[in-house]
Amino acid sequence: MSAQLMILELPPRTEPGTELLRRLTEAGLGFQLIEAGWTSFLRVPWPEGGRRAGDELPDAAAWQLPGVRRVWWQDEPFVLAGRAWQVADSCLEARGHRLGGGDLQLIAGPCSVESLEQMREVAAAAAGAGAGWLRGGAFKPRTSPYHFQGLGVAALDHLRRAADEHGLAVITELLDPRDLARVAEHSDVIQVGSRNAQNYPLLKELGRCGRPVLLKRGFGSTLEETVLAAEYVMSHGNPNVALCERGIRSFESATRFTFDINALPWLKQRVHLPLVADPSHGTGDAALVPAVARAAVAAGADGIMLEIHPRPAQSFSDAAQALTLDAFAVLARQLLALARLLKTELGGAQEGGPWI
Ligand code: PEP
Ligand code: MN
Repeated sequence: MSAQLMILELPPRTEPGTELLRRLTEAGLGFQLIEAGWTSFLRVPWPEGGRRAGDELPDAAAWQLPGVRRVWWQDEPFVLAGRAWQVADSCLEARGHRLGGGDLQLIAGPCSVESLEQMREVAAAAAGAGAGWLRGGAFKPRTSPYHFQGLGVAALDHLRRAADEHGLAVITELLDPRDLARVAEHSDVIQVGSRNAQNYPLLKELGRCGRPVLLKRGFGSTLEETVLAAEYVMSHGNPNVALCERGIRSFESATRFTFDINALPWLKQRVHLPLVADPSHGTGDAALVPAVARAAVAAGADGIMLEIHPRPAQSFSDAAQALTLDAFAVLARQLLALARLLKTELGGAQEGGPWI
């Protein structure tokens, strides 16, 4: 594929110099200034109609004018999330835990927050097994309006209290932008669920908020669409985004979803954001979760998100995929050991990780 976009990185909050704009116009190149707050860039698409064989691209180096930090041509439609923008892995940090570019992180908790007692039991087990992050749904995106919709604001309080007893960071889903302030107050990372992966007003709102975002892949979204969804959050002011592979819809009906293992190395090679794998939703079956979780670690996931429950059969939602607390402890030990082994065998972290 031929290069489609010239990117000119500018310092944050700058207007491009008039000399630069004059030269772009003279060269017949259209441009768009993206002002993300934490950075700025000019996006210069190759003119409509595309390049013909033999056409030379304008020399990027010739655009290295005063005020331009860097300039390059690229094929990918995403910019801020890409490795051309940033070679090194980025990370999300919360409560002393670090997701991305380092040691494997475990994110565990029930599908839905059901009570303070449940969350305290789960938080103790999660922390005891080596997880640094507590998950749990307060606002649940259920397929049927007749199914449990979550405890709402009360659940946010249960999550925070249980997590604080063990120094865990909290991740929970935001469904409705009207709940943003309350979710941000209680949660260290805000999850965007699979069903909202292309809810662009929600993504823009999260760009304007200061909290890190865990963006789940839409189960009907391509990888490129997933990265462009991250790009919505980043270009609206928030550089702290992690991506989560959670399974896609395919013709296969033996499992709830099809976990796309390809997603992890494909994204790792092109995108610097932390990658989380969710084999619970990716399989929908607790019996399959351990094998797929181990595969995801081997494929380069920075974090594994697992649904766990003290009594899975009584779970208010997603009972079939919840691991018992004991099964989680066994799996956590395996995953952490596997991550250590892979780090040693693959020669340790270098820029972009040992995976690419
Ligand atoms: C969840 O993590 O609780 C959830 C609803 O996941 P997804 O959006 O991937 O279905
Ligand atoms: Mn669930």
